[in-house]
Amino acid sequence: MTTTPSTCCYCGVGCGVLIHSDGARITGVEGDPAHPANHGRLCTKGLALADSCASLSGRALHPELRLTRDAARRRVDWNDALDTVAERLAGVIRRHGPDAVAVYASGQLLTEDYYLFNKLTKGLIGTNNIDTNSRLCMSSAVSGYKLALGADGPPTCYQDLELADCVLLAGSNTAYAHPVLFRRLEAAKAARPDTKWIVVDPRRTDTAALADLHLQIQPGSDVALFNGMLHHLIWEGLIDESYIAAHTEGFDALKRLLRDYSPRQAAGLCGIAEADLTTAAEWFGRSPASLSLYCMGLNQSSHGTAKNLALINLHLAAGQIGRPGAGPFSLTGQPNAMGGREVGGMATMLAAHRDIANPQHRAEVAAHWGVPPERLSDRPGLPAIALFDALKAGQVKAVWIVCTNPAHSLPDLEQARQALAQAEFVIVQDAYADTDTAACADALLPAASWGEKEGAVTNSERRISRVRAAVPPPGEARADGWIAAEVGRRLERLLYPDAPSLFQNSEPGAVFAEHAALTAGRDLDISGLSHARLERDGPQQWPFPAGAAAGQARRYEDGRFPTASGRALFHATPYRPPADAVNAHYPFRLLTGRLRDQWHGMSRSGRVARLFSHAPEPTLDMHPADAARRGLKAGELVRVENRRGGLVLPLALSEELPGGSVFAAMHWSGQHLDSGGVNQACSPAVDPQSFQPELKHAAVRVERAELP
Ligand code: SF4
Repeated sequence: MTTTPSTCCYCGVGCGVLIHSDGARITGVEGDPAHPANHGRLCTKGLALADSCASLSGRALHPELRLTRDAARRRVDWNDALDTVAERLAGVIRRHGPDAVAVYASGQLLTEDYYLFNKLTKGLIGTNNIDTNSRLCMSSAVSGYKLALGADGPPTCYQDLELADCVLLAGSNTAYAHPVLFRRLEAAKAARPDTKWIVVDPRRTDTAALADLHLQIQPGSDVALFNGMLHHLIWEGLIDESYIAAHTEGFDALKRLLRDYSPRQAAGLCGIAEADLTTAAEWFGRSPASLSLYCMGLNQSSHGTAKNLALINLHLAAGQIGRPGAGPFSLTGQPNAMGGREVGGMATMLAAHRDIANPQHRAEVAAHWGVPPERLSDRPGLPAIALFDALKAGQVKAVWIVCTNPAHSLPDLEQARQALAQAEFVIVQDAYADTDTAACADALLPAASWGEKEGAVTNSERRISRVRAAVPPPGEARADGWIAAEVGRRLERLLYPDAPSLFQNSEPGAVFAEHAALTAGRDLDISGLSHARLERDGPQQWPFPAGAAAGQARRYEDGRFPTASGRALFHATPYRPPADAVNAHYPFRLLTGRLRDQWHGMSRSGRVARLFSHAPEPTLDMHPADAARRGLKAGELVRVENRRGGLVLPLALSEELPGGSVFAAMHWSGQHLDSGGVNQACSPAVDPQSFQPELKHAAVRVERAELP
């Protein structure tokens, strides 16, 4: 029996785990008491990891190919699969150019995997068409940080949960989505009962139920709330004039906008009592340290960047940033969305927070990779929704989907399905062969899963932890980085036969070292870190430059920001309603979210029976008064739909919801429901700055289902 320290593969809390194994099989998983994120705690999903890993149900075990769209896929050996994938990609590139190829990856890949895919796409193929499901998750938080503070990444750390006197939780059901952090918050409140919790959420979630003040705002009205709170802070003299003068720009323009957001006006837009809005502002402004925790309720919006900016405005104006217990703190959804951004694995960025539009940045990355500078395209790549639109339109011919299930997770699913049907060649690289997306694959590449491969991840507080292999992958599954490098080597022999290989050493430690060297001198400098250092000293926060003895817990403590002026920037952000307006045909607001014990499309958590005890089946939740008005009863099958699509679900009555809104969890997919998951009805409208779609809000109608 062996014990292997690693990191949980589910959410962005990044809990440390100890994997017990007999060398062939994972026999148990427990929390790692030495890991600073969780100090030994795990939530139900983490505690069930051994059971989910023990199941081979649905695992992709062998490479498979189909030669024509009508044919069934058949098992092939790895050489056949890798050669075919490389030849098909090379053919598309030769016929249509590099922008006809796209990679769609995942915030669940390890940093080293991500680095290799980014290098393959931008450095070898020569396109910026690599985007990931992180576009659906954190991209509005990224835009907010970059525009306001000058660089991506939260300025805060988990210790701040224990040091804050006022915690504002906005658009985050932390009790379900980040349970171990919620336990830390609960323990902190028990130790310091005067700490105030303000929860901003249209639903009375389990998080909101414990709040000192629950602001049950109209869905999507967050910007009006934050603007109204700031108006009150200014009126009451609760802003930090000296911080604003010394460390920020743009406050006058913001003040002019805020004239239209008196507490009464803002509370009216939000549908809450004015007194509640001013109480929230008072607590936030008067507390010695105010911390904001926020997540998909702000990000998954057609105005997600504005929501992030309006919240950061509050922190800057009140001087609630750069101090222990204070600051804006986006909670990352996926385990390594942050690591993916660090390596630049998205369509809108280059490695180490460099910009595609900057020729110097392109030249630096090209030099590091040893490719001609002109190989790195100056054309921005296609973000997720545009990528699948281009696939449907035939502009992108081949797509390589890695470790994610867009046929379940994208909004307006019918469009995504048509895009995959339209593509010339679809490569799906995944640990699971039974997802909605794998069903569309021309080439299925079986990937190693958690506990079977080596690398690193970065959690919500910028802490890099090792992920380790405890057992070998089953069947012929291989590590994602190995597959990327093997296809990369074949592709470069076809495209640039005389050039030195970009994939000479794809061993994870070597890849991490190459990535770390590329960050030297950047705001996220981790040139002082290596796999060996992480082995020796344990998980570390960035920045961690060469020569440092430790990482940096908080950023911007000196009041200097990585903007052109060195000052943080206020942004005047007017409130705009969600893209989908309710009307007589579609009178309900459909809200979506997560359940406590499930993860994404349930490809891993859905293999464990006990994780269904909390919520055994999908439901459409509706307020009892709305149901009574329509003569609907609990348990009846109802059809929820709009022009984009719909599905049939049993009705559940919930007083957690405001009248006029319904809620469905996002986990169940076409794998479980004939009609497909709730994202069929979700809006593809995107935020103009982050390109993140509005997965949290759609206008729908709900009717009793007509059964055949
Ligand atoms: Fe895993 Fe997140 Fe649960 Fe921690 S809180 S055990 S990282 S799912």
